[in-house]
Amino acid sequence: MLRSLFNLRRLPAGALRATGAALHTSTAAVARFAGFDLTDDQLEFQHVADTFAREELAPFSAQWDEKHIFPIDTLKKAAELGFAGLYVSEDVGGAGLSRLDAAIIFEALSWGCIPTAAYLSIHNMVASVIDKWGSPHLRGEYLPALTAMEARASYCLTEPGSGSDAASLKTTARREGDHYVLNGQKIFISGGGSSHLYLVMARTGEPGPKGISAFLIEKDTEGLSFGKPERKMGWNAQPTTTVMMDNVRVPVDSRVGQEGEGFKIAMWALDGGRVNIGACSIGGAQFCLDTARQYAHQRQQFGSPIANFQATQFKFADMATQLQASRLMVRHAAAALDSGSRGKTLECAMAKRYATDACFEVANSALQLLGGYGYLQEYPIERYMRDLRVHCILEGTNEIMRLIINRELDKVDPIA
Ligand SMILES: Cc1cc2nc3c(=O)[nH]c(=O)nc-3n(C[C@H](O)[C@H](O)[C@H](O)COP(=O)(O)OP(=O)(O)OC[C@H]3O[C@@H](n4cnc5c(N)ncnc54)[C@H](O)[C@@H]3O)c2cc1C
Repeated sequence: MLRSLFNLRRLPAGALRATGAALHTSTAAVARFAGFDLTDDQLEFQHVADTFAREELAPFSAQWDEKHIFPIDTLKKAAELGFAGLYVSEDVGGAGLSRLDAAIIFEALSWGCIPTAAYLSIHNMVASVIDKWGSPHLRGEYLPALTAMEARASYCLTEPGSGSDAASLKTTARREGDHYVLNGQKIFISGGGSSHLYLVMARTGEPGPKGISAFLIEKDTEGLSFGKPERKMGWNAQPTTTVMMDNVRVPVDSRVGQEGEGFKIAMWALDGGRVNIGACSIGGAQFCLDTARQYAHQRQQFGSPIANFQATQFKFADMATQLQASRLMVRHAAAALDSGSRGKTLECAMAKRYATDACFEVANSALQLLGGYGYLQEYPIERYMRDLRVHCILEGTNEIMRLIINRELDKVDPIA
């Protein structure tokens, strides 16, 4: 098993340049080392995602980043393989997989393009909310289009005045007969302006989490508008915008769940989103480790490949260990979601916190190992590092993960 982790395919000289497209590692081999005996089905899912990442994502991801292209046609191709409704029920076009299956797939996809895999994660998050909490009408109305990627979805929680303190959100939804009227502003919305459907958390009642409800708003609804795309450090292959609501009227049956359940639904979605984003960090960091190892065997200094220096070898050992720990934690959290374990929120927060920090460090180490070349845009590491950085911030910052971890610890293991 140990041998298979390092059984990476050798690269032709010079293949590291630019996109890294020719670089392919057997993530299936890595998976077997992850302490989970993946089933034959899971190995097959992984293989499909890995092939898609290598053929459809990695060759283009540098250009998408540079030109800020949201690869909609590629997302449609991803949907043909089932990636747009991974853990959505099969009766509405979903693949009906487990969270662990999905974590394996997101890891493989993000090896080829982190922001594209991450957008798929957000889209899946919204689709899964509709599947679990939506009425039969909403499921039938939206999920067939979402799972086919004929429609794309965004998740709208953050506001200018409420980021980490999400329960203080100010967007209102006022009931008027058989409609709600929404007013307010959401910021940092991934897919904003491009997505067809927006899951919006808005206040229908008292201050705090119990006064929040969730709504679906279609893009062309009167009163819904979007800011211009934000200029960002990374995640350039997907747009991020403000979403403004000015007397947006939606029918009562566009509410997801009951009145007052919106915050619970938003947090339920984020448990899974955190596992996915952790998995996306692992795939991106794995790419950086693979690239740095190949480079270190080719790059000669002081008459020797830099891979021969013990300092380099120790660095690789640490990077591989950080990756492995991240993978174990993320998969364990995914399995906790699947089993509905009492400690699932604790595990999701721990996995997100650890994996996103550790994987950013792995990318930073990889950049250091490439020396000055690592800093150049001609090589992919600086892009992967820029893309990974935001994972420590979104889906709840890593400081907020620590608050959750401590709070959940008191729940699952109270001091007598
Ligand atoms: C590229 C990108 C895409 C995003 N996509 C989406 C999306 O699709 N949908 C969506 O709803 N949101 C999205 N977000 C928003 C993201 O979830 C928030 O940025 C994040 O939750 C933090 O909120 P904030 O930026 O307001 O920071 P703040 O909450 O203002 O935090 C600022 C700093 O203070 C720290 N802090 C805050 N409270 C505490 C505390 N109690 N203890 C210790 N430290 C604390 C934070 O950790 C952080 O370091 C996205 C953000 C980015 C950058």
